[in-house]
Amino acid sequence: MRDGDGPVLRDIVLVGGGHSHVGVLRTFGMRPLPGVRVTLICTDTDTPYSGMLPGYIAGHYDYDDVHIDLRRLAQWAGARYYRDEVVGLDRTQRKVLCRSRPAIPYDVASLNIGSTPDLSGVPGASEHAVPVKPIRRFNERWLALLDRVVREPTPTTIAIVGAGAAGVETCLAMQYRLRDELRRIGRNPDELRFHLFSADPTILPTHNVAVRRAFDRILVERGVAVHLGAEVTEVEASCVRTGAGEVVAFDEILWVTQAGGAPWLRGTGLALDDRGFVRVRDTLQTETDPFVFAAGDCASLSGAPLEKAGVFAVRMGKPLAENLRRALLGRPPVRYRPQRKWLALITSGDRHAVVSRGALYLRGDWVWRWKDDIDRKFMRRFREFGEMGKGAAPPTDRVALDENETTQAISAVAMRCGGCGAKVGATVLSRALAEIRPIEPERVLVGLSAPDDAAVVKLPPHKALVQSVDFFRAFVDDPWLTGRIAANHALGDIFAMGAQPWTATAIVTLPPGLERKIEEALFQMLSGAVSVLNAAGCALVGGHTGEGSETSIGFAVAGVVDDDLATALRKGGLNPGDVLVLCKPIGTGTLLAAHSRLQARGRWIDAALESMQVSNRDAGTCFAAHGVRACTDVTGFGLLGHLVEMTKPSAVDAEIDLARIPILEGALEMARAGMASSLQPANVRLQRAIRDAEHAKGDPRFSLLFDPQTAGGLLAGVPAERADACIAALRVAGYAHAAVIGRVLPPGDAAEPIHVVSVRA
Ligand SMILES: Cc1cc2nc3c(=O)[nH]c(=O)nc-3n(C[C@H](O)[C@H](O)[C@H](O)COP(=O)(O)OP(=O)(O)OC[C@H]3O[C@@H](n4cnc5c(N)ncnc54)[C@H](O)[C@@H]3O)c2cc1C
Repeated sequence: MRDGDGPVLRDIVLVGGGHSHVGVLRTFGMRPLPGVRVTLICTDTDTPYSGMLPGYIAGHYDYDDVHIDLRRLAQWAGARYYRDEVVGLDRTQRKVLCRSRPAIPYDVASLNIGSTPDLSGVPGASEHAVPVKPIRRFNERWLALLDRVVREPTPTTIAIVGAGAAGVETCLAMQYRLRDELRRIGRNPDELRFHLFSADPTILPTHNVAVRRAFDRILVERGVAVHLGAEVTEVEASCVRTGAGEVVAFDEILWVTQAGGAPWLRGTGLALDDRGFVRVRDTLQTETDPFVFAAGDCASLSGAPLEKAGVFAVRMGKPLAENLRRALLGRPPVRYRPQRKWLALITSGDRHAVVSRGALYLRGDWVWRWKDDIDRKFMRRFREFGEMGKGAAPPTDRVALDENETTQAISAVAMRCGGCGAKVGATVLSRALAEIRPIEPERVLVGLSAPDDAAVVKLPPHKALVQSVDFFRAFVDDPWLTGRIAANHALGDIFAMGAQPWTATAIVTLPPGLERKIEEALFQMLSGAVSVLNAAGCALVGGHTGEGSETSIGFAVAGVVDDDLATALRKGGLNPGDVLVLCKPIGTGTLLAAHSRLQARGRWIDAALESMQVSNRDAGTCFAAHGVRACTDVTGFGLLGHLVEMTKPSAVDAEIDLARIPILEGALEMARAGMASSLQPANVRLQRAIRDAEHAKGDPRFSLLFDPQTAGGLLAGVPAERADACIAALRVAGYAHAAVIGRVLPPGDAAEPIHVVSVRA
């Protein structure tokens, strides 16, 4: 659902972007349920597809081949995506508790969070072993291991604990890849030694004899030492001990067994099995709470525990989506019936695989090609949205509302009043405000804690007031994040003036809807904003909230600065000889435009949103400490527009070096593909300020000069002799991309009223 789709009546919150939830998102994307909003909360934007992991390890696939981009999938599905770690459930209040943001309310919740390594029973394992689970963390661990083995000049011995399908495949894939890497750098691949440990008397204990024999042979041929009936009972820094009394030395050890449920599940009060997985009925509803569902590895099907395998998690997606829908429609749930025999295609590192299904055994390179085809088709379902139509729900699919909710829902779509009739109701407002905690320093004489017609605030002696206002439409369906970015954006003007933030008043519009949904949106937005304002020492002292067709938020911010303006930073203080320093990368406008068109990678958007939350406060302090007199924040008019706002009053020219401008990952690629914000054409009119535009026009970085920025960085003129120290200090302060992007020149024969900028391509 998005603004304009009608009032939100119910919330489904999906916890974890596992194999089942990607199917749920797809289903809801293709057949949305009117009035139902889906929110996915996940720690990682790129979620790995387990079936292709061994192929990735072996080097047959690249990172993006084997990961589903959850942000992009959610964007297509009209769902909200919050990147965060869930740490608990408050089932009484029906809220999902997150690590770094306020709790998220749900009407129905579903868990699909996979499993967590349980190394606690084996002394030393937690300290020394690299767990394969959770698989989302596996990539970074694998890349680190790969790097260590390749850099280590001496032979390496690798121990793999666990000889189920995942253990065997991981062992053979790692061996294939590492041998390849060593060969590539001219080293002898036989320097590598592999040991595989199975607690059972065989490898692949859940597969048929022929499959086991085939892999026994493959492992022997590849020189892997297999230890059967060898439960690892202790791990030391460089050796393992088994129950059978063996002691085997290793350099690297990988743990591909004994996963359990996430520890936080224990605090939910949901019934768990003895390994800590959530007990579910055959409807995928938890045994304890019909409004909480679970699927995939984290679910334990009562009476028929399943193997922890992605194939089951994938198959659960369809009945799970159906039952989430039915739970809100007040209809009886359908049953999930697990497949009795399931097809396993087990790979052997090279492009070769074995079929295992019941007693069936087949093998060949063709099996690998067949698997490759199946896997790629599966992945295409989550990235090629063009092929997927969106259907409407039948008119009978209406969520069940009580009488009060029905009245509010009808009122939300009826003709709405203007003027003060468009204010958000007092009860909603006071309940939302009651939950937020703005700082209320002594300077606030009348503020939010005892609200009056207006706030009253003291000013320090010899200080002048700095005032600014900023306002924008929400560009991401995440009220908390929107609040944070809007507050940061508004504070940018104050920091650009070298001022200290003092107070802020908020202006918010929200689409009409159910009172509790509006209250929640307002609370989320203001608590996001307050987290940023508080950190900046800025007191939120009042505001106004009204109805609007879209969610939007802005702030009138006041700051203070010395009344003789001695410490104020101005746009007009550039001097010839200064270098131009930018503290944050650009590209947010292009990336957000690309995201709305489903062209951007989710991780690029994550990075852009992170960058928009980085405060300019420390950069302002740093510039002031390095002799800066001229500064501005780069926002809607783009880098060039804001630079011209500096060159004009300074009566100087400037030169920008395109190659040195810090750019957010993905922005260049998207600019090259022709993506641009809707404001960009207006900004491009300022091309007339560029002396030598023609030679640079073909460069995609050129178009980013006009890219409007949200909460962009500070641009300052730094005396050349202090530039290196200033950049070093900015980096220490956390501005990793801070860079000198050009220099200030003496004025030329500026026939134009604006002073010209030359661009080095
Ligand atoms: C090397 C390897 C190879 C494998 N190969 C196969 C195979 O070929 N076929 C097969 O069927 N199975 C395979 N498996 C097993 C398979 O990986 C798992 O069974 C499968 O991943 C489980 O899927 P899931 O949907 O339950 O959870 P996962 O795929 O683990 O997804 C869980 C999701 O939840 C998120 N998450 C976790 N905790 C939180 C939290 N607290 N807050 C928010 N988000 C959270 C994660 O970021 C992730 O997106 C393999 C396993 C390994 C280790």
